[in-house]
Amino acid sequence: MSEDIDVSSLPIPTDTALLKDGDWVPSVNFNERRATVNLCDPAAIQTGSAHCPAVKIDLLLLHYTATPTNDYALQLLTTPEGGVSSHYLVDGRGRIIQMVAEKHRAWHAGEAEWAGETDINSCSIGIEIQNQGYALQRVPSYGEAQMVAVTELCADIVKRHKIKPHRVLGHSDVAPHRKQDPGAHFDWRRLAKKGVGLWLEADDEVDNKCPDLEEALLIELQRKFLAIGYGIEITGELDQRTAQVVTAFQRHYRTSKVDGMLDLQTIDLVDQLLGMIKA
Ligand SMILES: [Zn+2]
Repeated sequence: MSEDIDVSSLPIPTDTALLKDGDWVPSVNFNERRATVNLCDPAAIQTGSAHCPAVKIDLLLLHYTATPTNDYALQLLTTPEGGVSSHYLVDGRGRIIQMVAEKHRAWHAGEAEWAGETDINSCSIGIEIQNQGYALQRVPSYGEAQMVAVTELCADIVKRHKIKPHRVLGHSDVAPHRKQDPGAHFDWRRLAKKGVGLWLEADDEVDNKCPDLEEALLIELQRKFLAIGYGIEITGELDQRTAQVVTAFQRHYRTSKVDGMLDLQTIDLVDQLLGMIKA
């Protein structure tokens, strides 16, 4: 958008019925959504004759703000100095604030990748949740009123845009090399119970030992993470990127132990998740 945009002239969006009076705090940090790679014909892109269909919103991305206060988060997310944004902010008391209309491309994902798509901002809706995150030694949990609001808002968004459960993700899923939010303390299970996203029940009968990770097995596992959507290279080695992806997966689906190790329970959960996605 132009730097001198008069955001006060932007009409209040009518995307969700959950917004109350005064909960529209427009951000200058947005632009038009672009058709994403997944929707374009790859052959046409190569020949420069790409004709992409209309932009589709098919991913919901959750974040924490990593800010000490809600006011500071709002400042970062709405001003040119902050330079970032998301469509919604859920504050510490569960108030839902909209900053960017859903039809526009908010700037929340940054350098990221999911299922081969790198322009995550163009295909997603972003929700920031006020939380100090890992800046503190003791990570503050999300409050009850806040989680009620987050769940309600997510349920509303996935219903309206028909977003598939396996495409409700955390920032760390799409940027495992540099992001940790919304963190292992975020209650994905609670969301899944309300039909938002997926949750896996870890089988305690399967122990946490790491199998012998020969090259062939590692290639197979890396292919599985790739099939889930993670940005991972098939190297057959337990490299840094693989450990980061494993950590991101655990932070989302096996929060009791987040260590980047490919133990049997983690491998079992990877298979469970793939089974759910393919079902
Ligand atoms: Zn984030």
